[in-house]
Amino acid sequence: MKLPGTPRKLLLVVICSLSGPAAIAASEPVAASAGAEAARTEIARQAKALEPAMLETRRDIHAHPELGNAEKRTSALVAAQLRAMGLEVKTGVARTGVVAILKGALPGPTVALRADMDGLPVKETTNLPFASRSKGLYLGKEVDLMHACGHDTHTAMLLTTAKILSGMRARLPGTVVFYFQPAEEGPGDFVPDGKNTWGAKMMVQEGVMKSPKPDAVFGLHVLAGIPAGQITYRAGPTTASSDDLHIKMIGRQTHGGVPWAGIDPIIMSAEALVGLQTVVSRRTDISTFPSVVSIGTIHGGTRDNIIPQSVDMTGTIRTYDAGIRKKLHADVRQTVEKIAESGGAKAEVSIVEKYDPTVNDAVLTAKMEPTLRWAAQDDVVQGALSGGAEDFSFFANEVPGLFVFLGITPRDQDMAKAAPNHNPGFFVDESALVVGVRTMASLATDYLHANAAAPR
Ligand SMILES: [Zn+2]
Ligand SMILES: [Zn+2]
Repeated sequence: MKLPGTPRKLLLVVICSLSGPAAIAASEPVAASAGAEAARTEIARQAKALEPAMLETRRDIHAHPELGNAEKRTSALVAAQLRAMGLEVKTGVARTGVVAILKGALPGPTVALRADMDGLPVKETTNLPFASRSKGLYLGKEVDLMHACGHDTHTAMLLTTAKILSGMRARLPGTVVFYFQPAEEGPGDFVPDGKNTWGAKMMVQEGVMKSPKPDAVFGLHVLAGIPAGQITYRAGPTTASSDDLHIKMIGRQTHGGVPWAGIDPIIMSAEALVGLQTVVSRRTDISTFPSVVSIGTIHGGTRDNIIPQSVDMTGTIRTYDAGIRKKLHADVRQTVEKIAESGGAKAEVSIVEKYDPTVNDAVLTAKMEPTLRWAAQDDVVQGALSGGAEDFSFFANEVPGLFVFLGITPRDQDMAKAAPNHNPGFFVDESALVVGVRTMASLATDYLHANAAAPR
C-alpha cells in the first residue's frame, strides 16, 4: 500500500492496527498487528539491555567531535559497528557518510532512518568526565569542537536501533536503510556558495534514495528545554528554510572630515539594516507562517577618520513556505538595493539557498502518532514551529518524511533555563536516549508491519 492517496477508510484501519490488538479492524490481518506488537516488546527489552553499550558509544563520540565533512573517526566507528551487525555497509557517502542496509527475511516496504554525525566549533564548558577537548579546522582556522547539538546522541541511538533491528531480521517484513550523514551543520572546510553541496542534499544527489528507494523516512533530533524523554512533533512544516544573505555596500572612500567628497557605505549599511526590519514587519503576510530576516555580521572600515570604500554584512533569511521564501528574497534585494541607490551607493546582494523547510507528511504523521505515543509512554506533545533549520528536509522532499524532537533536559530543572542547543553548556540527560531508540526502532517496525499487511 502506498501512503499518498490512501482511501480514508483504509488509513483508519492502519491507524487502529497500530494501537493494539483490541483495536484491530475486522479487515486487518491479525498477523500483522501481532507482529508489530511482538516487535515493540522486543524493542523495549533490547533498548534497555543495550543502554550501557549505547552510552559508552555516545560518550566516546562526544569526547571526539568532528566538523562537517571531517567525520573520519566517527564514520569509521559507525561503519565498524554496522559491519559487526552483519549489515551491508557503504562508506564515503557524500564524503564521510555511511549507509547501511538491513534486508528483513520477509517481503515488505522500505523505510529509511537517519542520524547526523557532525559537531560544532564550540568550546565545551560542561565539565563532564567525557567533555570534548578536541580541536579541528574550521575554514582553515583551528577551533575548539563540541557536540553542542547532540548529534553524538543521534549517532549512538541509531547504531543501537540498527543493532536491535538486525537481531529481528528473521521476522522483519521489509528493508530498513540507515543513513549516517555528515555535515548537517554545514561544511567545515568550505563556504556555501549556492553551487557546492554537502550533507543530506549531497547524499540525495549521489542517489542514496534511489536504491533502495524508501517508502518513508524518519529522523529524530534532541532538543534542550524539553523534559527528558518527551517527544514533540507537528504535521506539516516543522523546521525553517535557511538562506544565507550576503550584502556588500559599495561607496567611495574618503576622509572622515570631508564626507561630501565620497559616498559613505557605513551610513548606507545602517539605513539598509533598519530598512530590512520592514521586510517581515510591513511586507510579509504572517497569517500563515512566520518569517525572520536577521543580520549577524557587519564589517567595514579601518580607522576613525577614514570613510571606507565598502561594508560587508551577512545574515540569515528563514521561513516555512516556498512562496513566502521567494517573496522575501525579492523584497530583501529591493530594499537594500534601493536604499543604497538613494544615497548614491551600490549594493551587491547575494542570497544562497541552503536548507529547505522540513515538512512532515500529514498522512504519515497521523499514521505514526500512536507509535510515538507508545515509544514515549504517552508523553507526546504537539510542538511549535522551530526557527532552526534541518537538512533532513532534502530526504523528506523525496519521500514522505517525519522528523520529531526528543527532550533531553532533566525533569527537575527549570526548562526555560536549560542551555540551548549550540550553547557551550548544552547538556543531555542520557535517560532520554532509550526513548529515542524505542522511537526510531518502532517507527520502522510499525511502518513495515502496517504496510506489509495491507494490500500493495
Ligand atoms: Zn545544530
Ligand atoms: Zn542538529
